[in-house]
Amino acid sequence: MKPGCLKKIYLYRRLYPELLDYRLMKQGLAYFLKKATGLPVSVNIMVTYRCNFRCGICSFYGSGGIDNIEMSFKDIIKILDQLDVFKPVIFLGGGEPFVRQDIYEIINEIKKRGMKLIVSSNGFLMEPERLKGLDLDHLILSIYGPDEIHDKITNLAGSCRTVMEKMKYIAGEKIVKRLAVSTVLMPDNSDYLDEFIKGLIDLGIDYVKIENMNFITKKESQNLNVSIGGFNTRPSTLIVENDIEEQILERAWDRLERLKNKYRGKVFLKPDLDKNDFFKWYLGEDRKVSCHFVRHSLFISPRGNVIPCQFFGNSVIGTAVQDGVKYLWNSGKYRDFRRLINRNNFKVCQRCCK
Ligand code: SF4
Ligand code: SF4
Repeated sequence: MKPGCLKKIYLYRRLYPELLDYRLMKQGLAYFLKKATGLPVSVNIMVTYRCNFRCGICSFYGSGGIDNIEMSFKDIIKILDQLDVFKPVIFLGGGEPFVRQDIYEIINEIKKRGMKLIVSSNGFLMEPERLKGLDLDHLILSIYGPDEIHDKITNLAGSCRTVMEKMKYIAGEKIVKRLAVSTVLMPDNSDYLDEFIKGLIDLGIDYVKIENMNFITKKESQNLNVSIGGFNTRPSTLIVENDIEEQILERAWDRLERLKNKYRGKVFLKPDLDKNDFFKWYLGEDRKVSCHFVRHSLFISPRGNVIPCQFFGNSVIGTAVQDGVKYLWNSGKYRDFRRLINRNNFKVCQRCCK
């Protein structure tokens, strides 16, 4: 097994123990055989693209467009009934899932069916008391740095303080089984990570995940071939003007290494790149990647389309309610997409957080 695969498995094991059951072993076997699992191990339901924030780093509100059409509660229930048969781990996200009035009912319906549930949110609109008794397995809150940095990125004064207070309450009352913070590494926050992470660890959260930023540069976007093999491969990601300066990267790398060592088992870089790949990622040099994600998990877009991941939102495999998730997962079209991903070393895949 390649060292990169071992690192990925270790990271998934530490971040998402909910995935640790027989299905992961099945996925491991399928991975060796270079095949997909017979059924998805996890399903990421994007319940909306709407959001109360306007982050500059957002693929929907940064440089991408948004689509306000979303599944009705009834359609979500129909999908959950399909998933109930094989009980994948559910990741619920958006956009911001708590902009939906019915989000607590959706959470309740997932848990009622005995599925493990991981919710990602910016936390601002969340009402922690309403999560009590819902048996939520794992909550991941997105915070981008200390007060002024977070507020600058979200474009909303006071947003960090509000979320931190809710997080403290959830941690204190033990409302969820696992509580984590996800942040994105960017030039704006890389110099402030020490103070920020110390504050979070002191609060008693389970871990901090520092994600490498997914983006393509303007220049890369101009050279994209956006229609391959019958798929619309235009990536749904942030388009930035330039690669990031090498000097900033050197500093960020040293800081990350220090933090990972200091808070071993609590602070993770995702993906866990080595220094060489870290620089290639941000400086735009090609790195060869192989996608494991499309062989074990899928996304359902706010419109109810089955898509391979959030970065290929335009590569629609079919509709979850009409066509059926299980059918689509094993369909020729999905197999074609997996082959397409393996043959093309897309730039967006080279900077993928999976
Ligand atoms: S909180 Fe997330 S979805 Fe909302 S604008 Fe920021 S990055 Fe985008
Ligand atoms: S961006 Fe590419 S590598 Fe990442 S999950 Fe999607 S298809 Fe796989």
